Amino acid sequence: MSVESPESGAYGATLTIDLDALVSNWRLLGKRAGTEAGAVVKADAYGIGIEPAVTALSRAGCRNFFVAHLSEGIRARKVAPGATVYILNGLLPGSGGIYAEHELSPVLGSHEELLEWASFRQTGAKVRPAALHVDTAMNRLGLWPGEGLNLAREKSGTLAAADIGLLMSHFASSEDEADPANARQIAAFAEIAAVFPELPASLLNSSGHFLKDCPSYQLTRPGYALYGGNPTPGRPNPMQPVIGLEATIIQTREVEDGTQVGYNGRWTAKGKRKLATICLGYADGYPRNGSWTDTITGGSALVAGVACPFVGSVSMDLIIIDVTDAPAGAAQRGASVTLIGGPLDLESVGAGAKTIGYEILTSLGRRYERRYLGG
Ligand SMILES: *Cc1c(COP(=O)(O)O)cnc(C)c1O
Repeated sequence: MSVESPESGAYGATLTIDLDALVSNWRLLGKRAGTEAGAVVKADAYGIGIEPAVTALSRAGCRNFFVAHLSEGIRARKVAPGATVYILNGLLPGSGGIYAEHELSPVLGSHEELLEWASFRQTGAKVRPAALHVDTAMNRLGLWPGEGLNLAREKSGTLAAADIGLLMSHFASSEDEADPANARQIAAFAEIAAVFPELPASLLNSSGHFLKDCPSYQLTRPGYALYGGNPTPGRPNPMQPVIGLEATIIQTREVEDGTQVGYNGRWTAKGKRKLATICLGYADGYPRNGSWTDTITGGSALVAGVACPFVGSVSMDLIIIDVTDAPAGAAQRGASVTLIGGPLDLESVGAGAKTIGYEILTSLGRRYERRYLGG
């Protein structure tokens, strides 16, 4: 957010962020799980802005936030003084002091991290409880399940010295309910949770809330679904949309059959077409993989509700769209077109750019006029 807010006309595109929808989504997920929902606000709250997101969710009663980096945790702490803020990427060597200063909680994922945290605590540093991460499938971060079980059974002194307040694991494929890995992870985590009966536990990410036969434990960790992403791909989206993206048409023109358009002439007009150039490009976070060539399909925009495909390469600051089928009055210089919104949801925008909705959200540009609603 800028200090001075220039006139609306000074921007090429507007990103609308509905903080009331964010809060409704958070409430719906808590209700669905029948337990306390936390909020994953890493990557600038998936692109919508960590400060406004954390402020709105805190006011609604959210008490547990998860981020990836310490720097993100420091930002969350400033606007949520009483909350527990977990750093998912864990304890980097020598970073204990930053945890103490900002009252942040590391998610410890290895013996080395446990030992370092325990000895840091023994220096008398005042810190909040940490979380313990057990890896049940990802082979990314976290103790092996066997290591977790041994720690608990040995009633390890390190464990007590580390002061653990939460046990967690992360799903590898929960958006695909048919994947047998889900049941294996659910069973592996249940075994570990059983040997730490005194610890609150957390397993569910967004899609986890919608898996059958999965216990909710004491705290959930939704991210994508809070921001309107569909946690049940292929089925209707139970979440409310949170973001909308609109850009302005700068120019329109008519081109003849055979005209090549955009960088390297990768798209050729088949017949007479009407084109419009809009104020948004890959420097705004719209993936260049949304380009539409003679052989590869790409992204599209809505002009008065009519889907208009991109034409040629997505440029740094501009995209050309084919508005031949749009109502003439709507496809004019100064008119607004929709890049995200309505039927152009995060999943379909992601598919048009050969990626996933998560990447569309977290790539949202810094150059937009950002309009926050509600909160
Ligand atoms: C990112 C992340 C989440 C949130 O996942 P979503 O699919 O966005 O809900 C939860 N837990 C961990 C450990 C994560 O890294």
